[in-house]
Amino acid sequence: MIVVISERATDAEVETLIKGIEARGVSAREIVGEEKRVFGLVGDVASIDAEALMRNDAVENVIRVSEPYKLSGRHFHPIDSVVEIAGPGGAEPVRVGAGNFLVAAGPCSVESEEQVLKIAQDVKRSGAGMLRGGAFKPRSSPYSFQGLGLDGLELLKIASRKTGLPILTEIMSPEYLSDFERDVDVIQVGARNMQNFTLLREVGRLGKPVLLKRGPSSTIEEMLMAADYLLMAGKAQVILCERGIRTFETATRNTLDLSAVPVLKKRSHLPVMVDPSHGTGYWDLVEPMALAAAAAGADGLVIEVHDQPSCALCDGQQSITPMVFDALMRRIERVRAAIME
Ligand code: PEP
Ligand code: MN
Repeated sequence: MIVVISERATDAEVETLIKGIEARGVSAREIVGEEKRVFGLVGDVASIDAEALMRNDAVENVIRVSEPYKLSGRHFHPIDSVVEIAGPGGAEPVRVGAGNFLVAAGPCSVESEEQVLKIAQDVKRSGAGMLRGGAFKPRSSPYSFQGLGLDGLELLKIASRKTGLPILTEIMSPEYLSDFERDVDVIQVGARNMQNFTLLREVGRLGKPVLLKRGPSSTIEEMLMAADYLLMAGKAQVILCERGIRTFETATRNTLDLSAVPVLKKRSHLPVMVDPSHGTGYWDLVEPMALAAAAAGADGLVIEVHDQPSCALCDGQQSITPMVFDALMRRIERVRAAIME
């Protein structure tokens, strides 16, 4: 971090500023130039709040030279991480990252035992490695279906036991942490909660695999800082998920930022999955963007599948049928083989 001193600053003000910085265990080395006084900060600058420094009258500018995220960054962890996900009742674990490709598929929301079980069996047959399904649903309207809550979690467990697929489902409140700790294999922190820092810290403490979805208006840097909140307790295994961001474009529900895949892979060691269902909002756009995500180097996909999309209680317009999913899985295999040649 480089601090450029204001021309109006007095020596006494600069001295107070530098003392404040060094009190945080960071050393400040002066670089004397022709026109400007500049200090290079050396040490663990994570504890220095660049915005607070900017508000100091003695400071003209603050330039960051290293990333504000650490634990999720490649700098301190150059090797790709693999997240290992335990299956139900001693089933073989599944893996994602470092060449392990994982597809999580299932309905947007758990609606009934029959529905979630049938879809789970279908997607398993087609090669999905994990069952997705919302029990607690973050809905824009308070009048929309909010999910079955803990009953939905019970239905996911039945489908998981009968198919051997691990469960991926979203947590919305710390109130249910112990239920998720006991019953869920991968805890999803949804896009709307990506910067719910209290929730991130609490989920991180459980030490379970977490799928962190990118906030609709979040930068990649903000996403990696959110991942650091999860990793701080030193236990969680984090999977990042690009699911589209909000732009001026209205032809799609969100703008799926596929360039986030190689950018995240360059900056972070964590596995990266892509959700083309929420990323586009339309079922017929799911396949091309899923294939493109695989081609871009994603470590996996999260796809909404429903046996009767027109009757779905949530996100039917972006859900593909089990038949379309099956054909998609064959094409994904071909794309993956092509990029590995
Ligand atoms: C979901 O996966 O069901 C979901 C609500 O996703 P997102 O948080 O990306 O909107
Ligand atoms: Mn959905």
